[in-house]
Amino acid sequence: MTTRTLYAPLLAVIWFLLAALAVAQMRSGVPAFDRMLSLAAFALLSLLVATSRRLAPSPQVPLSDIASDLTLAEEMAGFGRWSVDLVSGRHGWSPAFCKIAGLPPETPPDARLLERLLPDGLQQMHTTFHGHRHDRDGYVVEFEIENPKLGTRVLRARARNVFSPEGVAEHVLMVARDVTDEYTRVARIQQEKHDALREAAEARRIANTDVLTGLANRRSAMAALDRAVVASRLGGKPLGLIVFDIDHFKAINDTHGHATGDRVLAEIGRIAALQARDGQCAARIGGEEFLLILPGANETAAAGAAERLRLAVESGTAMAGIPAVTASIGHAMLGPSDTSLTLFARADAALYAAKKAGRNRVALAA
Ligand code: GH3
Ligand code: MG
Ligand code: MG
Repeated sequence: MTTRTLYAPLLAVIWFLLAALAVAQMRSGVPAFDRMLSLAAFALLSLLVATSRRLAPSPQVPLSDIASDLTLAEEMAGFGRWSVDLVSGRHGWSPAFCKIAGLPPETPPDARLLERLLPDGLQQMHTTFHGHRHDRDGYVVEFEIENPKLGTRVLRARARNVFSPEGVAEHVLMVARDVTDEYTRVARIQQEKHDALREAAEARRIANTDVLTGLANRRSAMAALDRAVVASRLGGKPLGLIVFDIDHFKAINDTHGHATGDRVLAEIGRIAALQARDGQCAARIGGEEFLLILPGANETAAAGAAERLRLAVESGTAMAGIPAVTASIGHAMLGPSDTSLTLFARADAALYAAKKAGRNRVALAA
């Protein structure tokens, strides 16, 4: 129980008795001087009570408690205060900031320490403040510090200018936190995403590629043919298709071995890729069977491409230090009632017609 709580009822009782005495004296015939005395005592006590109430300390928290609560709150939130006087260039920071910077609490921010803490950035920091000197709203700054314990760390601070009555920014208050781990996490996620996309693209490429020749495989060639048919219909442009097959290839394997046969196939793949112009697709669709999709090519252009291909196979393999081979070629033009399958079937039929007609030749589909 405090002194104030003990005296308050006592004062109230005395005040009440004096008030009653003054009233009684007013009513009775007590001499004027005695009445005046009682009234004066009553007034004095009233003044005392009123003054004591005014002067009584209100239940406030000491400032030192507020400061330590603030430090604790900053630490709990992972923030630290850093202020910069733009006029004198002096810095000041809170114990919580010292902790973020890896410094002992209460370390004063002298010039040498600031140079060490911000090896590249002290001047830049002041340039940033200068750039924001008219900002009435808060802004965000990021900078690197050299934490003696953790090395280079990235701090992100919300900064706010404090203006003089004349409207000049005199002071910048920053509330900073270490975001290095966030950056590391984001960088790791981005790297993982990048790796996953690259792996997916690589998986797609492998799924669509013939290993021996590096050309598109049958699956992706048929999908490309589907797309070419749709594009031809939509664009009203012609579409040619070439299908070709190496002549007597079994004999190459039988005579020179399977490995040499593979080298011949790889060379045919290289020749076919060279024959394919922009937007054209060369593919290996089976053992020694290939195709070439020619979007936009009319019958003359397709026939020319087929003949160039035949010559390229004949002369190319002869010069490549491998057994020379020839190819039989069938080509077809997309007709009004064709699907990709019927177009392919007609080109394939033309290929077998070329075989039948003696090989190493080009045949146009019916
Ligand atoms: P044709 O002129 O009628 O086309 O006769 P061909 O001998 O070329 O045709 P055939 O279908 O009789 O033989 C094809 C040969 O291609 C048989 C097969 O062993 C060979 N072959 C298929 N795939 C590969 C491969 O990846 N590597 C090698 N080296 N040979 C293959
Ligand atoms: Mg063959
Ligand atoms: Mg064949």
